[in-house]
Amino acid sequence: MNFERQRNRMVDRLLERESLDEATERALRAVPRHEFVPASKHESAYRDTPLPIGEGQTISAPHMVAIMVDLLELSPGDRVLEIGTGCGYHAAVTAEVVGPENVYSVEYHGNLAERARKTLAETGYGAVSIRAGDGREGWPEHAPYDRAYLTCAASDFPRTVVEQVRPGGILLGPLGDRSQVLVKARKRDDGTLDRERHGRVRFVPLK
Ligand code: SAH
Repeated sequence: MNFERQRNRMVDRLLERESLDEATERALRAVPRHEFVPASKHESAYRDTPLPIGEGQTISAPHMVAIMVDLLELSPGDRVLEIGTGCGYHAAVTAEVVGPENVYSVEYHGNLAERARKTLAETGYGAVSIRAGDGREGWPEHAPYDRAYLTCAASDFPRTVVEQVRPGGILLGPLGDRSQVLVKARKRDDGTLDRERHGRVRFVPLK
C-alpha cells in the first residue's frame, strides 16, 4: 500500500475538477492525510470524502480543504487562526503554505485537541499551536491575524474573531443554520465585512 502514490492520484483527480493555486497543490501533495485519520480508516484516507475522527466529528473531504485553503489567498508568513482543529489535517495543509509557527488553532474537544497536537508533532508540524477551548473567543494573545477560518458552521462570524483579524485580512467559513453557504469576507478599515458567497456546503455546527 503506497500512500504517497494514492495521495498524488487523489490530487491529480482534484485538479481535473478544480483549478488550484500551486502552493495549495503542493501542500495537498505533502500532508499525509492517512496519519490524521483513525488507523481503521487508513485505507480510505485518499478517497475524496469526509471521515469520522471521534466525538461525532469528521475530517472534511480533501476537495473542501483544498477550496478553503485556496480561497484564503495565503502567503508564506501569514498568521492564521483556525476555529475547529478536529484531527489537525486542515491546519497541517495551511501550515505547509504559511509555515507551522504561524498557525493557531482552537478545538472545543480536549481529547481531539490533544490527539491533533500529537499527530501534528509526529508529522513534522509540531510548531502549529493548538488550544482547547471555545473558538468563539478566538485566541487573543496571538492577534492580529491575517486570516481566520471556521471549519464548523456558525450563524455568522463570531464578533470576537472578526475583531482579531487585521483590516484587509480575510475570514472564511460555512455560515447558516440548517443550510450553509461558504462565505469569504474581507475586513474593511472601518471593521465592516465585504462578503462573497462561494456555494452551498455542509459542516458540523459550532458547539
Ligand atoms: N479542520 C478539521 C475538521 C474539523 S470538524 C480537520 O481537518 O480535521 C469541526 C471541528 O470543530 C470539530 O472538531 C469540532 O469539535 C470543532 N468545534 C465545534 N465547535 C467548536 C467551538 N465552539 N470552538 C472550537 N472548535 C469547535
